[in-house]
Amino acid sequence: MENLKNFVKKFIGVDIGGMTIKGVIINHLGEVLSRNDIVTGAENGGDAMCSNIVTLINGMLSETGVLKSEIAGVGIGCPGLIDSKNGTVVFAGNLGLDYYPLAQKVSDKVGLPVKLTNDANAAALGEAKFGAGKKYTDSILVTLGTGVGGGIVIDGNLFEGGNSAGTEIGHTVIVADGVQCTCGRKGCFECYSSASALMRKTREEMKNNASSAMWNTYTPETVSGKTPFEYAETDETARGIVDWYVKYLACGITNLVNVFRPQVVMLGGGVSEQGEKLTEPVQKLVAREIFAGMSFAPVKVVKATLGSKAGAFGAAALFM
Ligand SMILES: [Zn+2]
Repeated sequence: MENLKNFVKKFIGVDIGGMTIKGVIINHLGEVLSRNDIVTGAENGGDAMCSNIVTLINGMLSETGVLKSEIAGVGIGCPGLIDSKNGTVVFAGNLGLDYYPLAQKVSDKVGLPVKLTNDANAAALGEAKFGAGKKYTDSILVTLGTGVGGGIVIDGNLFEGGNSAGTEIGHTVIVADGVQCTCGRKGCFECYSSASALMRKTREEMKNNASSAMWNTYTPETVSGKTPFEYAETDETARGIVDWYVKYLACGITNLVNVFRPQVVMLGGGVSEQGEKLTEPVQKLVAREIFAGMSFAPVKVVKATLGSKAGAFGAAALFM
């Protein structure tokens, strides 16, 4: 039995964030054998960040006594535009990286095969394999944070699109000539469904409704993505903001469902903390709007379950 265990490969996942790099070693069931963090250190250049990744990996290996021969490979999720085929960070503004051959550099130093993908894609794969999507073969993760990000898993595999530059779901337009987006277009999904958009709408509505109960606790300067949900039961203005948000979120999700027809859409990011207060009305609206909605089992809209762990888990899953 002990011999058999040794044959079962283990997987290293690395998730690069602006401040911290998260690492895990997991088995094929997603059970954590080791977990650790290290400072990103990208301000000291790509090679310094690479050294930190290597230190993180070697630390986890020595802590657990797992041998390199037991590791199938190292998966890395990195923000920015990623060429996953060549393992190159094409551009990552926040990390100051430009055409940086990250996979090769890490592989040379740790002596293991390395695969690289975009951090949002890694999170989608992590949720699909080990989180809210694990019962399904086709899933989409939509993260509702500063922007709207996400990833698409079809038949258990990550769909990255041409040049692995696809699935920028936040930059699909849902209102032509709508709100100006940072990407240059107008009316992008993320201009209506990000936490930032929800806060913008809340500020506007508070200013327009001096009698709203939200003023009891908040000013337009102190609102968060939670504010309208907190007052939705008791205050008409807050209720209206939540309904507005649900409408646009369901619109963007319905577009994705009509194209990819996943079994489940998983919501991550700060706004998803609202749980069923958000997922239930969105699921209802999506069910009503999707093409041929009556003909098939309804698409489920659920809260993602792995939170900030999803990226490292999904990166590890690149070798499964
Ligand atoms: Zn955009």
